[in-house]
Amino acid sequence: MSKVCFDLITIFPEYFSPLKLSLIGKAQENNLVSIAIHDLRDQAQGVHKSVDDTPYGGGAGMVMSPVPWGEALDRVIASDSAAIHDLIILTPAGQKLTQSLVEELVVCEHLIFACGRYEGIDHRVTEFYQTLPNIRVREISIGDYVLGGGEVATLVIMEAVIRLIPGVLGNPQSLVEESHSLPEDAVEYPNYTKPASWRGIEVPEVLLSGNHARIKSWRNEQARERTLKLDPRTRG
Ligand code: SAM
Repeated sequence: MSKVCFDLITIFPEYFSPLKLSLIGKAQENNLVSIAIHDLRDQAQGVHKSVDDTPYGGGAGMVMSPVPWGEALDRVIASDSAAIHDLIILTPAGQKLTQSLVEELVVCEHLIFACGRYEGIDHRVTEFYQTLPNIRVREISIGDYVLGGGEVATLVIMEAVIRLIPGVLGNPQSLVEESHSLPEDAVEYPNYTKPASWRGIEVPEVLLSGNHARIKSWRNEQARERTLKLDPRTRG
């Protein structure tokens, strides 16, 4: 798999300082991913470098202008030689993020994240880039709630995608039998480590038995019970 390139466009570049840490920081050091952060205001006109305006049709709040977005997106698209560019527009009105969508994103060559603020981005940005043959526009929501901006949603998606890139996790076995990758979208069984007794609570005896068949069957049963307890309405 070739390196996945991420371009993030935001009015708050500082929001992305956690990308230097942990797995994502290491993935960059090891040249498994490249991440570039762009300040949308660099494309804004006028002394105030304004990126928003009042909504047509009236209503509360401000809408992000398509003008700086068009400039910023054209630049990042032109800067990368990918055959297809995946433009992710973060919005609570988008397709809900799931593990299977994450698995679709991990095979993309060039992921561009457009982080909205205020009441969101003028919809013509979605409409325009959808017409281009080498762009796949994806409007994505990370859940049924409203955040102040798309930056945190971008971090969530990036963390979920980057840990699936081969070579990023020290032990690739960690990806086997994970929640939401199991058949029927099941979640994982509960995990325990040493000490065997903590605050009067004992680790389930079966896990100390060394009997792998019993352990496997206990874990399957636990995973099934936990999955059944989840409310289907909260599961995307
Ligand atoms: N007026 C919009 C609406 O009602 O759908 C909400 C705008 S929200 C205050 C500002 C920005 O935060 C959005 O443009 C989007 O980029 C981001 N955002 C908010 N909630 C989100 C979610 N659940 N998933 C992804 N992005 C979200």
